[in-house]
Amino acid sequence: MQTIKFCKFAPSINRQIMYRTHNNGQLRAANINERVTLSGWVQRVRDKGFMIWIDLRDRYGITQLIFDEARTSKEVMETASHLSREFVIQVEGTVIERESKNPNLPTGDVEILVDRLTILNRSETPPFTIEDETDGGEDLRMKYRYLDIRRAPVRENLILRHKVSMVVRNYLSQKGFIEVETPYLIKSTPEGARDFVVPSRMNAGQFYALPQSPQTFKQLLMVGGMDKYFQIVRCFRDEDLRADRQPEFTQIDCEMAFVEQEDILNTFEGLTKHLLKEINGVEIESFPRITYDDAMRLYGNDKPDIRFGMQFGELNAVAQHKDFNVFNQAELVVGIAVPGGNAFTRKEIDGLVDWIKRPQVGATGMVYVRCNEDGSYKSSVDKFYTEEDLAKWAEVTGAQAGDLICVLSGNANKVRPQLSALRMHLAEKLGLRKKNEFAPLWVIDFPLLEWDEDTQRYYAMHHPFTSPKPGQLELLDTDPAAVKANAYDLVLNGNEIGGGSIRIHDKGTQSKMFDFLGFTKEEAQNQFGFLMDAFQYGAPPHGGIAFGLDRLVSILGGQETIRDFIAFPKNNSGRDVMIDAPASIDEAQLKELYLKVTVAPVVTEEIPPRH
Ligand code: ASP
Repeated sequence: MQTIKFCKFAPSINRQIMYRTHNNGQLRAANINERVTLSGWVQRVRDKGFMIWIDLRDRYGITQLIFDEARTSKEVMETASHLSREFVIQVEGTVIERESKNPNLPTGDVEILVDRLTILNRSETPPFTIEDETDGGEDLRMKYRYLDIRRAPVRENLILRHKVSMVVRNYLSQKGFIEVETPYLIKSTPEGARDFVVPSRMNAGQFYALPQSPQTFKQLLMVGGMDKYFQIVRCFRDEDLRADRQPEFTQIDCEMAFVEQEDILNTFEGLTKHLLKEINGVEIESFPRITYDDAMRLYGNDKPDIRFGMQFGELNAVAQHKDFNVFNQAELVVGIAVPGGNAFTRKEIDGLVDWIKRPQVGATGMVYVRCNEDGSYKSSVDKFYTEEDLAKWAEVTGAQAGDLICVLSGNANKVRPQLSALRMHLAEKLGLRKKNEFAPLWVIDFPLLEWDEDTQRYYAMHHPFTSPKPGQLELLDTDPAAVKANAYDLVLNGNEIGGGSIRIHDKGTQSKMFDFLGFTKEEAQNQFGFLMDAFQYGAPPHGGIAFGLDRLVSILGGQETIRDFIAFPKNNSGRDVMIDAPASIDEAQLKELYLKVTVAPVVTEEIPPRH
């Protein structure tokens, strides 16, 4: 019970009130004739003068209120006539049977005949309609995100996220994992993405960095004997925001001691299966596994979407050594069979060619073969190939009558991602990427290192703490690109939802790795001395994995963008347009932090509200 001490709009002040006896998603036909008190927001007003209907909304749903000249007092009728969208009100009344029932609303059998009405707070006209289908554009909704959150689709996404977190916490806790918090103010290290840094007032001229992940801390927890750790934790990466990335995002971060790759895969396959069952009611027997090399060979991608086929068929043996020079000169000739693709019109095929020629994909052209229903073939290179030749292409790519074979050629490292992009594009076009279908897959045996053309050096493919596969350390000196790691990704519907590795746990190997990656002894000691020191005091063998929670929830929720599952996300320029951050700070603050700003701050655009 609460007393309203002061409420400008309340007709009865200082009355002992209970804000509500029920929520707005609760009342059913069984409640007819009960007296109830409800509170919430006015979603819609239908005012016929002698009768007013209001949709009253809260987190739980919508209940219809009715004010009827014949049955409602003049005073209440008068107050009701002044209500408008997003006013916060409290009503008392009787549950009655609705004349025209609404089968789409759980409360649609009843309405409340109101006899007391209190305006708890007024509202300006909101800048967009707060309903499932809104007229508000993305920018406007982000600026008024607190209003957007009142909308059921956004609210349901946040509730789903909560459920996923709870399922994860309960599952891992039951399996003996302990959630441990690790610091947010840490030290900047050069490996990986760019760090966000925080100046230290107490330590002049020095900076903390925000963690890109708790990687080294979770390893230190293993040295500390915690054995099984997890944390649902915020991570920060100052990257240029490619589509659907956020500068701060959340990981389900995990680490285990005394484990091999197999233990980790089994444990986290268990967690993912449990999630799919609890959240989506989907049961999956066991997750297939594919090596990195095979994933690249068969899908041109280390996170293949296996909800559909269209595996790559390498055509060098059957398509080269004819008179077609484009193929003869190519390192790789590779194709996919598009199911039913022979139905594409010439215009559609030209559209595909234009699509892959865009700079984002960068292919130079495409050869295609129509596989006709009568078993004959017709290709864009009929001049060079007989039907017999083309039949071999069909065999390699698995094409059936009625399919279309799309073939790209060139440098293997370029052509694989290009054909992968085309494969995904076609799957989208053909409706093969079904949102309510879930196809998880482990990608294993990643290379330890990745060559970077720009800087002409190797980088750790996962991170520098990843261990080479047993017995492969020596290869580092002779054939670094061939070294494989016990590193793995969990892929779901073409998205990497988790990744991890078995770690190095001795100082010698870790030091050799830093050395190989181009760190001087001093740099390695300066940046990671704490970890190598720890490895001298009995570090157990250990390994782990981290899941991207935002992405995981969005896939489980059958949607594309992670932004929709974050309460207060940033836009593509890394801005929070609601609180208008980042922002300049005043001179005194700068001085206190020993900072000097050398550029004029960027002026941000004001988004005009629409009424
Ligand atoms: N810390 C790693 C990452 O953020 C995951 C891991 O190796 O556990 O990608």
